[in-house]
Amino acid sequence: LTSRLRPFTSTIFAEITELAKQTEAVNLGQGFPDTDGPASMLRAARQAIADGVNQYSPGTGEPALREAIAEQRRNHYGVEHDPDGEVLVTVGATEAITASMLALVEPGDEVVVIEPYYDSYPVAVSLAGGVRRTVGLRQSPDHRFELDTEALRAAVGPRTRVLVLNSPHNPTGTVLTDAELAVVAEVCREHDVIAVTDEVYEHLVFDGRGHTPLATLPGMSERTLSISSAGKSFSVTGWKIGWVCGPAELVAAVRSAKQFMSFVGGAPFQPAVAHALRTELDWVRGLREDLQRKRNRLANGLSEVGFEVLAGEGTYFVCADVRPLGFDDGAEFCRSLPERAGVAAIPLQVFCDNPDAVRHLVRFAFCKRDKVLDEALTRLHKLR
Ligand code: PMP
Ligand code: GLN
Repeated sequence: LTSRLRPFTSTIFAEITELAKQTEAVNLGQGFPDTDGPASMLRAARQAIADGVNQYSPGTGEPALREAIAEQRRNHYGVEHDPDGEVLVTVGATEAITASMLALVEPGDEVVVIEPYYDSYPVAVSLAGGVRRTVGLRQSPDHRFELDTEALRAAVGPRTRVLVLNSPHNPTGTVLTDAELAVVAEVCREHDVIAVTDEVYEHLVFDGRGHTPLATLPGMSERTLSISSAGKSFSVTGWKIGWVCGPAELVAAVRSAKQFMSFVGGAPFQPAVAHALRTELDWVRGLREDLQRKRNRLANGLSEVGFEVLAGEGTYFVCADVRPLGFDDGAEFCRSLPERAGVAAIPLQVFCDNPDAVRHLVRFAFCKRDKVLDEALTRLHKLR
């Protein structure tokens, strides 16, 4: 195995999911929903298979899907993308992120990543030969994770090629404020940095808040690749239909990498996702309301168990401090939790270069049926 991959041999999601299976634990580790997406979208996929949409799609994705993506972004955010050239369909957001790094980062270029980070970012940077520089989210006195804007300004400089941003943020659930986004945009403009924004949770934002794509800030549309995925918006994480939108030159670069990674993928799912983007956004509103209730249900229950809970404003996840229960290390806590209580969770420190700040924090997923959440909470009461 090459030095590029050696530090990344297993994923925490595979490890904890396997442990959960062995112990028959309730798996609140890996973030995937346990209910299906909209029925008309599932029917559209079955119909596409029946109609013979089973061979390679066009290299940039089905035209109907690229058009639906551009239309959704116009309606939601007022941004314009030419579906031919400024929208590329990928095998999930994961491929879009990796292909972006391979396309844009020269060996030795610096890539600034916010930590805790989604687990595939450091691998993508490493595969491209880039040098990762992390900037921490820090806990504010009111328990929100906030962007350390001074650290961000200090991290971005002449060697920075790309900044990777993820809001709504996995694993904290934080949705960056307009003021925080403005600082990100300012440093990108000042140092001529390309922003790669992972917005897979764009529709899963709670408490009446909205999502602001970084690309909508002044001077950013020409330097931002915006990435999203059907997996989260339509509860089909196994379909792996993602996309990246941005200026034609950058999207063409990503396509150059993508075409030799997978070429294309998920042909019959593409028209189904196009259908969903056009007709099932009310379903997504229902999902958002449901998830907001589930966040509250799990956060309140975890507080009752005795955790100090840091519930964010979006995504599938809440974070909890294990110290009030007499533990001090989240990784140890998560490795023994399935055996001890029959529940699985993910430690935050695996998403960090500087784990000390989050050593006591673990992530629970709430994208599960209420009875599953309640069963997990009942089991966790054994920890008291
Ligand atoms: N980015 C983030 C922040 C995620 O949480 C996930 C999925 N959990 C992904 C990317 C991957 O998305 P996809 O399954 O579409 O590749
Ligand atoms: N994105 C999911 C999570 O954060 C997991 C995806 C995966 O297993 N790679 O839980």
